[in-house]
Amino acid sequence: MQLFKSLFYKPLSIDLNVTSSNGFHLRPVAQFVHTAKTFSSDIHIMFKNKKVNAKTVNTILSLSLDTHHTFTLTAQGKDAEKSINSLKVLFEKLMQNDVELEKIHKNTNRYEGTTLEGDIICKGIAIASTLNYQTELIQRDNRLTFKEAVTQTSNMLLEKYETEKTNTQNAEIYLAQKELLDSLNEKSETIEALELLTQKEIHALKDTNLSAKVSDYKDILQQVKTALGLEIKLHLSKENVILLANDLLPSEITQISNSSVQGVLLKNTSMNSHTAILLRSAGIPSLIMDTKQIPLNQTIILDASSGVVVLSPDKEDIQKAITLQETESIEKNNAYDKRYEPALTTQGNKISIYANVSDVESTSLAKEEGAQGIGLLRSEFLFKSVKPTLKTQTNAYQEIFDAFDDVTIRTLDVGGDKALPYIDIPPENNPFLGIRGIRLFQTHPIILEEQLHAIFLASQTSLDTKIKIMFPMVSSVGEFTQAKEIAHAIADKHQINITNIDFGIMIEVPSVLFLMDKFNEIVDFYSIGTNDLSQYLFAIERTHPSLKIDILSPVIFSAIEMIVNKATKPVSICGELASNPDAIPKLIHIGVKTLSVNAKSIAQTKEIIRHV
Ligand code: PEP
Ligand code: MG
Repeated sequence: MQLFKSLFYKPLSIDLNVTSSNGFHLRPVAQFVHTAKTFSSDIHIMFKNKKVNAKTVNTILSLSLDTHHTFTLTAQGKDAEKSINSLKVLFEKLMQNDVELEKIHKNTNRYEGTTLEGDIICKGIAIASTLNYQTELIQRDNRLTFKEAVTQTSNMLLEKYETEKTNTQNAEIYLAQKELLDSLNEKSETIEALELLTQKEIHALKDTNLSAKVSDYKDILQQVKTALGLEIKLHLSKENVILLANDLLPSEITQISNSSVQGVLLKNTSMNSHTAILLRSAGIPSLIMDTKQIPLNQTIILDASSGVVVLSPDKEDIQKAITLQETESIEKNNAYDKRYEPALTTQGNKISIYANVSDVESTSLAKEEGAQGIGLLRSEFLFKSVKPTLKTQTNAYQEIFDAFDDVTIRTLDVGGDKALPYIDIPPENNPFLGIRGIRLFQTHPIILEEQLHAIFLASQTSLDTKIKIMFPMVSSVGEFTQAKEIAHAIADKHQINITNIDFGIMIEVPSVLFLMDKFNEIVDFYSIGTNDLSQYLFAIERTHPSLKIDILSPVIFSAIEMIVNKATKPVSICGELASNPDAIPKLIHIGVKTLSVNAKSIAQTKEIIRHV
């Protein structure tokens, strides 16, 4: 068969670039493999002289594909072309959708009792007695062979993936475990062999950046054992408890989510582990910390909102924690109930809250979550895999324009960390300082011109919507005037009236701060992109693996203050800083009147403003 394929079908190949700052890790790899398996062709991945089968997760993971690595995908067989095309589109989508973990902001609640600090997995407060992790073995009758047990477990994980699809991260975890199991199964004939192989894999993961997968391996093994009648159950008491463990298996989070467990303290997990993701999704207050000093079977306070555990809390501490607990839950519910109400400061000043959206679905969510309008439409979603036609673009813009009566659309912002497969930007030593955003007019003008044309066409049917076009990565006055001239030329050519459309810029490059007088004369509005502005202010790449930008640095607030003071046109903020609870009061005091935040942060942002 192999010979047959190689004789009759020409091998096809394509280079793919890992653009996600998380690398090509287990969850996206599992989705990639899941799709690769639907093709009959032989599919391989080549990287640094190693060639591996693209239909098993383990082999791909063994390549340790990280950010900026380029690998070659090859396919040979009847459906080679189709497989290459589909996998390319899927891979790019996986890279674009692979979100970085949001930074969790610590509250600063103070207690009388001794406190120990930890890293927050999931915020929240629990007051209960501590319980050490214990399990019990439950033996049941077994009528399955090893292979049947593996198939049953694999099918169950697939079913969970398919039913959980609405909660993507959870769903991806089940698929990742299924694909891991399938690749282990290929090499094991008995449960003992599977156990040995699992131990080998766990050993190999030690001290690597994939060590968070250890609990998945253990989990898979245990799930097969359970199918064989050897179930291990968590031993929990009826009383409310805070569970102390070295680590938990992802499947154990399901066991504790509707139990007496009020909080969890784990010694050995990471923020990105599947256990941590599931704890967050279940809303269980939890920390990563050394649990050695925590007494067992004694009441403690787990204030995961402040990232501390309070040992031997006195009456006042307990009362304080109860009040905080009640306030947190009331605030959460109240804030959500009031999401459609305006955000007025204590002085009665109205702050407008807009949404950052990245496609039609997130636009609907923004509506549901109480956005006043769209402050940033990241238009890249249409351009991810293939160049969209004029019609595709026009239809999508129309749908989004119709949803709100105030929409700011940002023109294509590629370059830097956002590469497009069909746009050939010559290699750059510093892509973040290269052809990015508005600079694309210099190298690929047609793509931006066509986008402007599509926006203008869409604007004609959404006459009640205020449409604002925003150019990203502007660093000089000339770039903006040239872009605006091109826009007018396109409108004239197609006889479209664009007098109602506003044109503005994102402030992301520090040079703009010193050109405000000139920009004031030509732009209709500004939006501060703090994500990029901070990377350019500090000369620290926003995706840098070890260097971190201090997002709350006074430098950033001074820059914003300078912009607000100099601007004679409306200013909004659309970077992540706009939804940072510690930053919001400072931004309001500086005089910022409009914030644009992710849909899910709208209710909380409004509530914080109501207390400023
Ligand atoms: C920003 O830079 O702050 C911004 C909102 O744009 P993006 O994160 O899409 O680069
Ligand atoms: Mg930006």
